Amino acid sequence: MRIVIALGGNALLRRGEPLTAENQRQNVRIACEQIAKIYPNNELVIAHGNGPQVGLLALQGAAYKDVPTYPLDVLGAESVGMIGYMIQQELGNLVPFEVPFATLLSQVEVDINDPAFKNPTKPIGPVYTKEEAERLAKEKNWSIAQDGDKYRRVVPSPLPKRIFEIRPVKWLLEKGSIVICAGGGGIPTYYDEHHNLQGVEAVIDKDFASELLAENLDADFLIILTAVEKVAINFGKPEEKWLDDLETEEARKYIKEGHFAPGSMLPKVQAAVKFAESKPGRTALITLLEKAKDGIQGKTGTHIHLA
Ligand code: ADP
Ligand code: MG
Repeated sequence: MRIVIALGGNALLRRGEPLTAENQRQNVRIACEQIAKIYPNNELVIAHGNGPQVGLLALQGAAYKDVPTYPLDVLGAESVGMIGYMIQQELGNLVPFEVPFATLLSQVEVDINDPAFKNPTKPIGPVYTKEEAERLAKEKNWSIAQDGDKYRRVVPSPLPKRIFEIRPVKWLLEKGSIVICAGGGGIPTYYDEHHNLQGVEAVIDKDFASELLAENLDADFLIILTAVEKVAINFGKPEEKWLDDLETEEARKYIKEGHFAPGSMLPKVQAAVKFAESKPGRTALITLLEKAKDGIQGKTGTHIHLA
């Protein structure tokens, strides 16, 4: 099977845990232990989020008083090197030496007129209390929004239209390489009026980018690994119900009823539905980082598929 795995940026730097390199590596290792179990007999493409990481890089950059913080597309590219490196090394330590790896930068085209640019929704960086977040918003000219019971900086998250480096990804897969790409949802780019490609200040949702990647690569399985084992309806309420199996029609109904939080679970379910409906036989799975193998074997997670 050809499998696209999307690792959550928040799953790699968990809420409430310190944003240290060691902690991130530890979570990467947990993910890689799972990925190593599904490696034999499958072609693997690993995509990942970078919300917490890109926000962290922005804050670190702000420590240089005379240097304006680098734009988000450049920070996105930096985050891809950092996370790709850790995955390559940790997974490399778990699979036979002969297995080739490559981390590819992926430029992704977005529509510069995407309404997302006027309505930032993608949480990045650490969580703050309401008061802290409001102070920072004023000081740094950020948009902020609630994320769970805390607040975070939010940035525009336009939809991915085209992944430019899709051919090198295919070539590497055909040669037996594990490919890490579309990190952070890919680097957001657009063509200006002179048809020059350039970066744009945004963070593409990695769930949507992974979905496009999976479609473009004609993958069989899209696995979204995150910080919860299953998708729930009435999440966090007394009537909460965890779902094992979800038909796309049912998922659409739950989306309409507002069961999934925008910017976190909603894009995952939307991406899963889009993938499952894109071609018969395609399945999506949403589960916990630690449960990938059990999930593929149908023992846990939420499986999204056509009727
Ligand atoms: P990632 O970095 O993996 O993309 P996110 O934080 O963006 O992770 O999204 C996963 C989070 O979505 C879960 O940890 C959970 O707190 C939250 N969530 C919101 N709505 C739901 C729901 N209906 N079912 C399960 N989890 C949900
Ligand atoms: Mg997310």
